[in-house]
Amino acid sequence: MKKLEERIRQEGEILSDTVLKVDSFLNHQVDTALALEIGREFASIFEGKTITKVLTIEASGIQFAMATGIALNVPFVYAKKKKAITQAEKVYTAPVHSFTRQETYQVSISQKYLGPDDKVLIVDDFLATGAALVGLVQIVKEAGAELVGVGCVIEKGFQEGRGLLEQMGVDVHSLARIAKMAPGEIHFTEQQSA
Ligand code: 5GP
Repeated sequence: MKKLEERIRQEGEILSDTVLKVDSFLNHQVDTALALEIGREFASIFEGKTITKVLTIEASGIQFAMATGIALNVPFVYAKKKKAITQAEKVYTAPVHSFTRQETYQVSISQKYLGPDDKVLIVDDFLATGAALVGLVQIVKEAGAELVGVGCVIEKGFQEGRGLLEQMGVDVHSLARIAKMAPGEIHFTEQQSA
């Protein structure tokens, strides 16, 4: 998605060879029109797959899962990182190691909102080590649901996430794929779509 690549070039802050900050339009302040466009793009990539639910993980995937859910006219569900006192029902859980926070936590989804009849599209903001998405893939399997694919807004292609997911047989689509970056420079992988 060329428009997204341009915004990353203009506003992204490359903090190191591995960390990109996009707080001005994706991760802290959110450009709502762009988020909705991202949702439409995912919906068009996975068109015809009769998706019943979009799945993400709190907090930074929520706006993109919501935008995708709107475009597909289906609900979205987000995995919680902490068990709330209101969450007394049975849950699916998976451990996730956070790249940015350097800690491992359990993510959970109520069994009420995911089941064997669902066809699921997983959406997230970043694909880096893949830990968060592998956790969600495990939850989809545990629920007996069908995984249609994974959509990521930004992929850091030089990290292992895509490889891990593809080894699990997952169809991965990212809207901006970073081949290489360093403070002051960024290179994207050429993609066919607009
Ligand atoms: P993972 O390493 O599991 O693929 O990434 C998990 C989460 O860490 C992503 O969903 C994203 O929220 C965050 N993350 C990973 N790499 C970056 C990065 O370079 N910049 C930002 N802003 N978040 C990142």
